[in-house]
Amino acid sequence: MNTFEELSLSPSIMTAIKSKGYANPTEVQEKSIPLILAGHDIFSTAQTGTGKTAAFALPILQLMGKKKLPHRVVRTLVLAPTRELAIQIADSFHQYGKHTGLRGTVIYGGVSQYNQVHDIRRGVDILVATPGRLLDLMNQGIVHLSSVEFLVFDEADRMLDMGFINDIKRIVEKVPQKRQTMLFSVSLTPEIKKLASTMLKNPSTVEIKPAPHNKINVNESVYFVEKPFKHNLLLHLFQEQSIRHALVFTRTKHGADKLVKLMVNGGIKAQAIHGNKSQASRQKALLDFKERKFSFLVATDVASRGIDVKELSHVVNFDIPEQADSYVHRIGRTGRAGASGTAISLCSSEEKRLLFDIQRFTGNTIPTQEHPFRNIQKSGHHHETTSRVEHTQNSRHHPTENQSNNNHSTGPISENGFSRGHKNIHRKSHHSYSTNKFHSKSSWHKR
Ligand code: AMP
Repeated sequence: MNTFEELSLSPSIMTAIKSKGYANPTEVQEKSIPLILAGHDIFSTAQTGTGKTAAFALPILQLMGKKKLPHRVVRTLVLAPTRELAIQIADSFHQYGKHTGLRGTVIYGGVSQYNQVHDIRRGVDILVATPGRLLDLMNQGIVHLSSVEFLVFDEADRMLDMGFINDIKRIVEKVPQKRQTMLFSVSLTPEIKKLASTMLKNPSTVEIKPAPHNKINVNESVYFVEKPFKHNLLLHLFQEQSIRHALVFTRTKHGADKLVKLMVNGGIKAQAIHGNKSQASRQKALLDFKERKFSFLVATDVASRGIDVKELSHVVNFDIPEQADSYVHRIGRTGRAGASGTAISLCSSEEKRLLFDIQRFTGNTIPTQEHPFRNIQKSGHHHETTSRVEHTQNSRHHPTENQSNNNHSTGPISENGFSRGHKNIHRKSHHSYSTNKFHSKSSWHKR
């Protein structure tokens, strides 16, 4: 099976898929959609970038559409670790569900609850939420989960890493036992297996290999360079390879700010997003980056979750991530759903152990690239670097430059249902929407 037509999706969903321009289902979609439509619980190792959002959103929307209720109640709950990912998922539901008449909203912390409460009170069928804000609104008696039929845990491993386990337990206590549950997690730690065993009933397993060796087509390379010379090397690479648009990861918020300063001093337009920035400024930076108002977005791991920039050509690991699966997540920002991308990692001698772990995790040796800053020690002296993780390859990258921005629409949606950013609904026709903006609050809806 390799076409959407063979997946028995309804005409309203097929119309949405067509307007997204998807030719064929991705592996996780091909495997999951029939199982979800048949009513199975799912335990999947698919990660962001493989098309997994559609893998659960499309069949859920279809199943929801089969049963009409007299009032809008939360029938689908999607839990995600970060606001960015929650917004991304809500945006996907909004796009895939625009012809279904279903309505949804997204809630997350760090912003006033006022608009979120307003949207919920108007009634939603689908709720995408980060656990903390959801629990807060449940405790205030604003959100009720007694009608939930579909429960999705997205990036469950990340939610556990972020300490959400108790919140999750409290939330799930309020969700009916009789439900269909889908859990997505890249890593299969004992904690995740335990969570899956308590949350899922006879789940079908959908195993999707880590992205770089599966759907994501990323040209990876590592540059060995000592820390004080990393930013010089970065500026050199940007120039030498004419890189115009890159997502750059640092380990710390401070590191992100510092790098932005150095880049701006070097004449390069860059901005940072991380946990210390307000939600509004993070969304603004993300939008401006997507619209190519500046070239380099510097992000920490948490802030990067859910970032989906269409045709992002380059991801740079300015610092090697401490967790091997973060590497996979990071480079999964480029080369998405079949497009090709380039992932550049800058590795100091202190970080070689981390690089080794990553290579063991992915089962893939990352080719080493030569460069003018390679053999300069921290003191400024040249030296020879050798390592068991190295494997030199002198081929040069050929960056792609013609990328387009991702058109994230958040205004009211079509004639019947989903919309995001309800203020715009009143300003725009129901038939046109495309504000190209993330809103701090959003609801897709309006009949
Ligand atoms: P996700 O893993 O859900 O974050 O999706 C990653 C990217 O793949 C998003 O930009 C989707 O719009 C895109 N995508 C999802 N399904 C398909 C498909 N069948 N064909 C092409 N692109 C897709």
